[in-house]
Amino acid sequence: MRIGIGTDAHRFVDGRKLILCGVDVPHERGLLGHSDADVAVHALIDALLGAAALGDIGKLFPDSDAQYKSADSVALLRHVVALLATKGWRVNNADVTIICEKPKLAPHIAQMRANLAVALDVDLDAVSVKATTVEGMGAIGRREGIAANAAATIIKN
Ligand code: MG
Repeated sequence: MRIGIGTDAHRFVDGRKLILCGVDVPHERGLLGHSDADVAVHALIDALLGAAALGDIGKLFPDSDAQYKSADSVALLRHVVALLATKGWRVNNADVTIICEKPKLAPHIAQMRANLAVALDVDLDAVSVKATTVEGMGAIGRREGIAANAAATIIKN
């Protein structure tokens, strides 16, 4: 078994959807990014790539590549799971923490977990999604953006 960790952060901007773990979360602003800017999925992708020592999301899906413009990050996650499978790895579990002052994410956590479980090809009880605020401190506290941390374990088939 291997463990990996991932971290990401994206800035809020006007005129974008807020996509977190594949859920379109109602909010007045969204996250800036080349893809759909799904910060939680990006952290999880880096955790999986880290566990398999296969580099990072920026290496696999470069910002400079037009094919990833507005990309569905959950589709990129499925691509990473398939890549790991070619190396003999399957996902064991994943744990994601979204660091976000606003909006409240509790109503969306169940759908987020379901989306990730399908993409990772694991049972729902192997996927955790949590949300926390930072009590108004720092850039996240000032609602300038959202950050996410993730950990994942993978098992050799
Ligand atoms: Mg990112």
